[in-house]
Amino acid sequence: MAKIAILMLGAPGSGKGTQAKFIMDTFNFIQLSTGDILRGLKKKPAESLTEAQKEAILTMDSGKLVSNALVSQLLADEIAVSGGEKVIFDGFPRNQAQISIFEELLKQNGFEVLIPVFLRVDDEILKGRMEARIAEMKALGQEPRADDIPETFAIRLATFHQETDPVIDHYASHANFIRLDALADTKREEVWSQLESQLTGMLAQ
Ligand code: ADP
Repeated sequence: MAKIAILMLGAPGSGKGTQAKFIMDTFNFIQLSTGDILRGLKKKPAESLTEAQKEAILTMDSGKLVSNALVSQLLADEIAVSGGEKVIFDGFPRNQAQISIFEELLKQNGFEVLIPVFLRVDDEILKGRMEARIAEMKALGQEPRADDIPETFAIRLATFHQETDPVIDHYASHANFIRLDALADTKREEVWSQLESQLTGMLAQ
């Protein structure tokens, strides 16, 4: 069977992680998220990190993008270790330069099928969701993600439009492109039911 890659595209807070989880549970995919991989660096002892990795942590917490070279290397390592045949890519490619790196990684690792999935959500809804997420975490006595505070979230959103909108434009013409629109009151289960039926059709082929 062909190796299949699903590429999750969407703004911060658009629900990529939630939908990725549904895909994993239903269709038996694994997920590689560059955000998660980078956050993993934070859990390592500082003395085991290179200068580039330390700098990446600071950049991530500021809401900007870390260097292409570092993220690409981390992702390449993870693909090799995972050995997955059905993989969801979340967070990469995130700018134009990363598109060709991604395509090359897919080729080198034998992925023949690519399904780009774009979750489109208005900025106003995203800001509201993020505020709600922070309030929820605080109510539970948990520490919110450093880059979820409103000022940093605004930078992430601006960075998304500047750097990642062109990536979405690039994949919009792909034969397998799936676009899902979430309005203010669209529940995650509704988005999933649309996504599930589209994926079922494609994965059955
Ligand atoms: P979100 O999509 O919610 O903004 P992620 O967990 O995907 O969050 O990413 C968090 C941060 O990690 C980004 O703001 C950025 O600093 C860094 N990052 C993740 N993926 C990449 C990437 N492909 N290129 C550069 N930086 C990245």
